[in-house]
Amino acid sequence: MSTERPDDHAIDTWLAALTVAEKADLCSGADFWHTRAVERLGIPAILVSDGPHGLRIQAEGGDHLGIDASLPATCFPPAVTLASSWNVELLGQIGDAIGAEARAHELSVVLGPGINIKRSPLCGRNFEYFSEDPLLAGELGTAWVLGLQLRGVGASLKHFAVNNQETDRLRVSAEVDERTLRELYLAPFEAVVRRAEPWTVMCSYNRVNGVYASQDPWLLTEVLRDTWGFDGLVVSDWGAVNDPVAALAAGLDLEMPATSGASAAKVVAAVESGALTVDQLDLGVRRVLELVQRSQPALAEPATFSDEAHHRLARRAAAEGIVLLRNDDAALPLDLTNGQRLAVIGEFARTPRYQGAGSSQVNPLHLDDALTCLRDHLVDAVTVDFAPGYVLPGDADADEGTDTTARLLDEAVATAKGADAVVVFLGLPPEEESEGFDRTHLDLPAEQIAVLEAVASSVGPVIVVLSNGGVVTTAAIEPHARAIVEAWLGGQAGGGAVADVLTGAVCPSGKLAETIPLRLEDTASFHNFPGEDRVVRYGEGLFVGYRHHDAIDGAVAYPFGHGLSYTTFEYRDLTVIALPQFGGDEVVEVGATIRNTGDVAGAEIVQLYVSRPESTVVRPVRELAGFTKVFLEPGDSTMVTFRLTRRDLSTWSPRLGDWVFEPGRIDVSVSASSRDHRLFGVVDVAGPTVALPLDRASTLAEWLDHPVGRDLLVDLLEHGPAGDLTFLLADQATLRMIGPFPLTRLLAMTGGLYGEDDLTGLLHKVGEQATDVEAAFDPRQTGWESDRPEDRPH
Ligand code: BGC
Repeated sequence: MSTERPDDHAIDTWLAALTVAEKADLCSGADFWHTRAVERLGIPAILVSDGPHGLRIQAEGGDHLGIDASLPATCFPPAVTLASSWNVELLGQIGDAIGAEARAHELSVVLGPGINIKRSPLCGRNFEYFSEDPLLAGELGTAWVLGLQLRGVGASLKHFAVNNQETDRLRVSAEVDERTLRELYLAPFEAVVRRAEPWTVMCSYNRVNGVYASQDPWLLTEVLRDTWGFDGLVVSDWGAVNDPVAALAAGLDLEMPATSGASAAKVVAAVESGALTVDQLDLGVRRVLELVQRSQPALAEPATFSDEAHHRLARRAAAEGIVLLRNDDAALPLDLTNGQRLAVIGEFARTPRYQGAGSSQVNPLHLDDALTCLRDHLVDAVTVDFAPGYVLPGDADADEGTDTTARLLDEAVATAKGADAVVVFLGLPPEEESEGFDRTHLDLPAEQIAVLEAVASSVGPVIVVLSNGGVVTTAAIEPHARAIVEAWLGGQAGGGAVADVLTGAVCPSGKLAETIPLRLEDTASFHNFPGEDRVVRYGEGLFVGYRHHDAIDGAVAYPFGHGLSYTTFEYRDLTVIALPQFGGDEVVEVGATIRNTGDVAGAEIVQLYVSRPESTVVRPVRELAGFTKVFLEPGDSTMVTFRLTRRDLSTWSPRLGDWVFEPGRIDVSVSASSRDHRLFGVVDVAGPTVALPLDRASTLAEWLDHPVGRDLLVDLLEHGPAGDLTFLLADQATLRMIGPFPLTRLLAMTGGLYGEDDLTGLLHKVGEQATDVEAAFDPRQTGWESDRPEDRPH
């Protein structure tokens, strides 16, 4: 499908013919899901719809929150499950399949993927997001968008930006320092925008450092367009526009859904009063028209898709996303022979929890449950007995009280007794996690734990299968489990995927895209989530997820990147080399050989972590810098290679307003998880040191560290009016005391021997000589704290 750039000539012609009122109209929706048509000019409307793990196209007049049914579509596994596959190729295939369904329904934009960072496990919408790590979220999002858009259907990358909670999501101000913002929260968006060029980006509801994302020129124009080169359309999240005029001026092009003409009237009035220029309005209109135009080739050739093929893909994806957390004495795969009996306990085996609630809710084309699929797998040979064990809220028996609870418990124990294997299905009821609100704890329901305890106390530890979108703590399960299978939310084919993994038809290969903490209290944002009085402070800064747990060397239940297999892998032959830099951007290459040393075919997710122990800025102990998934037959081996660019190894300097690469020692590890490092290496990378600019507030220590400033200062102290004062610098104890003093204050204490002019002179000389220093002295600047609005900390 052609994804050619828009025809500017046709758009210019439309723009010239449109009235201001029509233009203003085009910048907001016609209804909940369509853009506006302008019939007299032949400008068609297009249809947009959720996303992201399948389509939610609502019939005329449908609600917006996913409560009313939508047209049936394949319900692929939600993001949490897809992310645990760490398989970019698979993500591309899912994007492609959703694109095919979109084509069949003449849908032009799919509202996804959601790539916000999982800052806290409490976020009610974590099931819709990929990871706590920006690299992983960015890679997966890129693959999904590329897959979708090759079909000629646009993506809407969301929610831009810093939308990491549901509490007060329409007003809350996420207060986050600029370095954290750039390195964690914006990084996945930057990766997807630069590499996959999504047709649209959806701004979030919340405020970022005080400014609504929908009307933040810094976010929507300076960063997104001017820095990252985004040339698509910015659409609002549904109802996210606070001030339509400010939004258009900031770079938001399309407000959704329709506002019955109210926003358009404000825009027309603003143009008439001069508050908004026609050029500003035209920019938004142009982008709407470009989107409409881009959508036409696919609409001209609607396609069909194979519902069976998509179901098979959904099953494969769900199986790849399952994470085998624990497997004592090879409890799994099930090893049942003819005539043996399997006991399946837990309502979730029969009534699957397969997706989260809210705007992403798909009306599935099919729905598999694990119980039926297990029976299909084990047909004839093995008896599969079932007991629900507990009721789910909303079930007919749910309100029957303690009698029912006791009866179900007894039944579960009786079913388990004497069985050759027992699998207990536990999970979060849908009421506990959804778009629109956050969770308040990480526990599984007490009545489910009671069933597990009763069964295990009668038959010993069992196999536990979990269904949940956000992480749950496992402490209450561990004493009663021989194996724990985290099946997440599997989409419509999740039941089959669980059966595939339990029986060994599929060798598990998923790994955690987020840490499972021991306790909620151990998580970095614990004290600062979800904030209060319209503000949430990201006090943990960069230390989110494993970055936090590693920094405090804290115990976790299961670390980021962890996942077991039915086979084993050997890591060997590490190579780490600094790449010769002939102008190229790649600076380090890391290689290793991975071998399947077990008896079955399987896949391993190989992770590369990087540490900068000598960095001059605060850094996490280690950070994911690359990953790859390799599929290997027993005995086979393969080489994996990672290449890192300067940018991959850089940090954001708020003072320089740029990424800074520090040359020097780089420690790498090729790892099976963030806590299972198999190969270690060290490499030294050369390059110029970037010094922070000196100014009037710079301390003596900063002057002495500065590659140019140091010599100039020493020269002044040696040959100044007070004689040679350099002896002051030779005494370490004195230096520790006076080093933190700004130079200006020290000079003022010399009884008039040195003064302001000397400092001004020094700063000028630094400016002249700072050839290797990226930022030179700016003589207008008088201090490091600025009151200028453009320096507002983001
Ligand atoms: C959600 C978006 C969704 C939109 C349209 C909003 O409430 O935050 O993710 O795409 O509704 O359904």
